[in-house]
Amino acid sequence: MLRIDAMLDPRLRPVAEKALAGEPASTEDARAMLETDDIVGLGAIANHHRRRLHGDRAYYGVNMNLNYTNVCELRCPLCAYSKDAGDEGAYRYTLDEIESRVRDAAERGIDEVHIVGGLHPELKLDYFEEMLRRIKRIRRELFIVAFTAVEYDYFARINGLALEEVFRRLIDAGLGALPGGGAEIFAPETRRVIAPKKMSGERWLEVMETAHRMGLKTNATMLYNHIETTDQIVDHLTRIRALQEKTAGFKTFVPLPFHAENTAVRTARPPRTGFGDVRIYATARVFLHTVPHLKALWMYLGERLAQTMLAFGADDIGATYHHERVVHAAGATSAASGSEARLRRLIERAGFVPVRANAAYETIDPEARA
Ligand code: SF4
Repeated sequence: MLRIDAMLDPRLRPVAEKALAGEPASTEDARAMLETDDIVGLGAIANHHRRRLHGDRAYYGVNMNLNYTNVCELRCPLCAYSKDAGDEGAYRYTLDEIESRVRDAAERGIDEVHIVGGLHPELKLDYFEEMLRRIKRIRRELFIVAFTAVEYDYFARINGLALEEVFRRLIDAGLGALPGGGAEIFAPETRRVIAPKKMSGERWLEVMETAHRMGLKTNATMLYNHIETTDQIVDHLTRIRALQEKTAGFKTFVPLPFHAENTAVRTARPPRTGFGDVRIYATARVFLHTVPHLKALWMYLGERLAQTMLAFGADDIGATYHHERVVHAAGATSAASGSEARLRRLIERAGFVPVRANAAYETIDPEARA
């Protein structure tokens, strides 16, 4: 039960009052939350929303990551993962290799395949259609969450197709939902530095709006702790919330702390702290009150902090992520994949009830898949 007491940072008082009255927080409230030192008070407000939405449930997934190529035309400064074609370490999976990797993971009991990759000029839409079809042929129930808004925009351009047609064909092939990557920070002055060739924030929102219109649910991300300002974070959250009011198509918001190692971005921010991470997650939970889920990816945050976030607004700690390559290329020190037992234990030891689910939050009985 959320209580407003004398110890609460006075700037958080209106935020708490609105939470109790079921009213949205203002942009001024968001700024107050991002600047407060009272993370206990802020956490109580975030936890109020988290409990309202999910009670004591906390979600995790059992999945594999498929990063089909690391060759990318954009070579964003923020990216430690991409290569030019012909570089040492550049790769691109054939459809047979993809099928064999997914088959192998399916035999180990995954529920979902999470697919993202670079913008490779030789990979046309038929490659992706066939990829999804082959995955579905391995096991029809495998849920496919695939391709960022940046990839969809690229598929439309290099195949000379309308975005709607790209979505339609990939839905036919088995697409289930979209991850939320590529959003970074919408503010153009920061995008120009960290990802100058990447689509604008406006275009990212347009692609997501189209996906939502076609019945697809998506995530939304925000990359923080590089050179962004507090106002740019507030702007980012505000634009996500505005689209959500229009489409209700975002199921999950995923803040992503920036890992600078092996990238060309020199961060202007002091090194990340747990305190700063908590402020971002709790603020997002309160401000994005109409986005149902908040994901604290253990792979980005580390297991301990992801677990702690369950008490500060998060209700999902991510999935097992067999074969993840992107965030580890940028120096994340978490284990390359977590076992299901380990994720359940993290949740239980934080006092929550673990629920295994796919990206659409359809729950899966672990016993049935054992
Ligand atoms: S962040 Fe994405 S778009 Fe940018 S270079 Fe890396 S893979 Fe390509």
